[in-house]
Amino acid sequence: MTHFRMFRRFAGLMLAGWLLVNTSASAQNGSRDVLRDITDVVGLKPRFELQATPQVQNAAAVVYNGKRFLLYNPQFVASVNRAGRTDWAGTSILAHEMGHHLNGHTLRPGGSQPADELEADEFSGFVLRKMGASLAEAQAAMAVVSDEEASPTHPGRSTRLAAIGKGWQQANTQILASSRTAAPSSAPVAIASRPTPVRSVSSTVAPLNVVGQIVFRDNPEERYYLTSRLNVVRMLNNSGTGQVVGRVTRSNSASFPYILVDGQDRRLYISANGGVFNNRGQQVGLLSDPS
Ligand SMILES: [Zn+2]
Repeated sequence: MTHFRMFRRFAGLMLAGWLLVNTSASAQNGSRDVLRDITDVVGLKPRFELQATPQVQNAAAVVYNGKRFLLYNPQFVASVNRAGRTDWAGTSILAHEMGHHLNGHTLRPGGSQPADELEADEFSGFVLRKMGASLAEAQAAMAVVSDEEASPTHPGRSTRLAAIGKGWQQANTQILASSRTAAPSSAPVAIASRPTPVRSVSSTVAPLNVVGQIVFRDNPEERYYLTSRLNVVRMLNNSGTGQVVGRVTRSNSASFPYILVDGQDRRLYISANGGVFNNRGQQVGLLSDPS
């Protein structure tokens, strides 16, 4: 994290040789789970190759052959966890490196820029709060590994701790706000399958001659009736009146001999045994004898 930029410049060359001799080297299972934990809280798939290697001094985000790698020195991470007295320290280092990838820093060449470091720091603070870390836990690694003074490539310690705090606070505000308001409905968007009304009729004036009834799956309580004149009528509760919501016409298809057309000219297809289907072939209702 502190020296990774310098490393990144040479990473392509070094990695080429390293991968050839070290293809079996992969992260420990625990680290893999951490990677997934980090990507889970920002809704991404863990499309990173995590590699433990003594070739990096601490940790690095590199792109090689179009693949995104997170490299870390396991001894370094273990010592940071010890020094920071929390396993969150190692997690925040991986989150920081992932922040370099996700903010696009590894897509452009060049050396370290303080602004990039602060973006990656902010991302790690955000992620760690989402994962349940306290502010102190999110800052533990940086407190141990950063230099107090700023350099041309890296901001100083207090600036970096503040960046982690900024990300942590942002996530914290989101979490507190979402716990204060009712969760939004998780019901998926409704795709209309029921016919739209065309006009009202009164069954008291001319009693409807019902030859069939239709039940739609997304509204099984409501009854739709097919009349002898092939109108589809929705009865309004106990008022004796109904709405003509569509018409049924014959088609030339043997599998779907009838088509129901509603007031908005949308079509549903009725199979020989009464299944009502939408234009994607999903059954949305059933036509049967009147009960
Ligand atoms: Zn960094």
